[in-house]
Formats: sequence, structure tokens, C-alpha cells
Amino acid sequence: MAIHLLPPHISRLIAAGEVVSRPLDVVRELVENALDAGATRLEVEVEGGGLALVRVRDNGAGIPADSVALAPVRHATSKLEPEAAAVERVSTLGFRGEALWAAAQAGELHLVTRPAAQVGASEVHASGEAVTVRRTSAPAGTTVTVRHLFARLPARLRTQALPAVEVREITALVGRYVLHHPGLHWRLTVDGEARLTHAPADHRGAVASVYGPLSANRVLRVEAQTTGGLGVRGVVSRPELTRARRDRMHFSVNGRPILAPLELEKAVIEGFAELLPSGVAPLCVLDLAVAPEDHNPNVHPAKQVVALADLPGVAARVRAAVAEALAQHPLARAAPALL
Ligand code: ADP
Ligand code: MG
Repeated sequence: MAIHLLPPHISRLIAAGEVVSRPLDVVRELVENALDAGATRLEVEVEGGGLALVRVRDNGAGIPADSVALAPVRHATSKLEPEAAAVERVSTLGFRGEALWAAAQAGELHLVTRPAAQVGASEVHASGEAVTVRRTSAPAGTTVTVRHLFARLPARLRTQALPAVEVREITALVGRYVLHHPGLHWRLTVDGEARLTHAPADHRGAVASVYGPLSANRVLRVEAQTTGGLGVRGVVSRPELTRARRDRMHFSVNGRPILAPLELEKAVIEGFAELLPSGVAPLCVLDLAVAPEDHNPNVHPAKQVVALADLPGVAARVRAAVAEALAQHPLARAAPALL
């Protein structure tokens, strides 16, 4: 075949598939939008493994009627000043203006939104190239629904995980957001059944919501604010609560759950020194606050990988914060519990 330009409706589908390749991506993007909107209440609904429906309802800032038509337009965002330098200091979770666009290409997007100070609400329907906007009435906040994901992309549809597998990962993802944003109301409903509910609490309360009270009763608070603007807050498990895998070691950078670099996991384990038998891992939830210019989330499509300007420095702070938390608490050695 000779080189030729793909028609826009095909190239759009391919590009959208990069941003949204599975229902989990839709959940992540919609949750991040709700967090960026300052929501204190987030309800996530999933049906059919997310392929039939993903819905996120929030009580955040909403989208003003005069710009709502831009919401599903590619590269349209309210979060970045239109200058190149702004990318270097993003403080929001989103900034690319692609998620709603991609969701509308890959499925059917329905959005109802109202800023608290606005009288009427707006309703947007977007599916492929067709976008309609209507006025309606609704409570303050935003509800975004994505239905029939990949119905127009049979090849994508064929490579999707089984619904049960996707639901497991979505549940884990929402759990990570709960752990890192424990001061909010959260609810995850799967096929009409509540999977996870969380009322505002501290990190320990979030551990209780996600992993149960047994784990929550065995964590210590970590709190270290350093002069360089680097903060470390959260919880680590006491030495008697360990796991064979590192699957309960959670880190966020400026509110974004990240796939932690090995150096951070190691730093936590080193913070335990000889208190932790070798080969086991603690549970931890650590929120790192770094200056926006000291990290770059723009290195991965899902933004789960962030480049930290001074990873060794951050790791050293984490190690010290964990060591300090352990030193401040009498380590009542309860019966070992391998969860
Ligand atoms: P981005 O988050 O990168 O800006 P999105 O495609 O996710 O791009 O969203 C486009 C825009 O729509 C956002 O910049 C924001 O202004 C608005 N928006 C999306 N979701 C919400 C929401 N839940 N509440 C308020 N505004 C929203
Ligand atoms: Mg977004």
C-alpha cells in the first residue's frame, strides 16, 4: 500500500485508543477530573466491567455554560495557561484536555454539569464527531457517563480483560484514590452493588475502608515537613504487619497515585532497619508533596509515572520519615500477622 493519510475519523479513533485503552482509564480520568474540580464527594459507578457504563458523579466546581461545549473537544482544557512554560508547573491532575474527547471517540459521553452559582445546568452528549449541548436542571457538580466503550472499535473490544478482572483493577484503583484522598466521601458501585464506601477520615480511616480494621489498627502515622518544601505524610504498618509482596505500598505525588519507583519502596523498607525481616514488605500510604517544578507527570500517558527532579533526596526524606515514625512509637509486638 502506498503511503496515504488516514481519514480523520480513523486517526481520531486510534489516538483516542491511546488515552483510553480500557475502562480503568476512563475511571481514572473521570476521578481525576472530579478531584481537580475540588469535589468532596465522588461516586463511581461501573457496569459490565466498565464497557457498558462508567459514571462518576461529583459535587465539584462544575463547568460554566459558556464553555461546556468545549469540554469534549481535543486539547481543550481549563487547567493550563496557553504557554509552553505552564507544562513545567502543573499542579492539577489533568492538563492535556484529552480525556473527555477520547471517551467520546471510544464510546458515548454524556455530561451534566452545573456550577453552584449558575441557575440552570448544561447537558452535553458527544459520540464520535456528534456533539449536542442542551440546557437542563441538575444539582451543583458534574456527572459524567461513558457508555458502550469500544463499540465502534471491535479490535479494542476483543482485547479487553474479562469484566471480573477489570472490576478488580478498578476497585484497586479507586482504593488507591481513597488512600491518598482520605478526607473525601467516596463510593464505588459495581453492577448496582456497593463495593467501597468511605466517609471522610484520616489515612488510618482510609486503610480501614480499603483493607479493613485489622490493618488500620496496626499502622503508625508518618508526618514530616521539611524546609525544602518536600512533605511526607501518611501511615506505615507496624513491623508485625507485613506482606510477602510489595502490593500494599502506596505513594502519591501531589495527590496523584503513582507507580512508585523502586527507590521509594526501598527507602520505606530501609526506614524499618532491622525491625523488618528481610524479604517482606510493609503496608504504607505515603503522600509526597513536592514543588510543582520539582516533578514532571508528563512522561506517561496515564501519568502514573512521575519524574522527580531529586529522587535520591526524596528517598532519603522518606527513609528518615519512616524511621522517625517507628522510633516515636512503642513497638508493642503483637502476634505476627501475615495478611
Ligand atoms: P483535562 O482534565 O486534561 O483538562 P479533560 O478532557 O479531562 O481534560 O476535561 C476537559 C475540561 O473539562 C477540563 O479542563 C475541565 O475544565 C472540564 N471538566 C471535566 N470534568 C470536569 C468535572 N468533573 N468538573 C468540572 N469540570 C470538569
Ligand atoms: Mg482530565
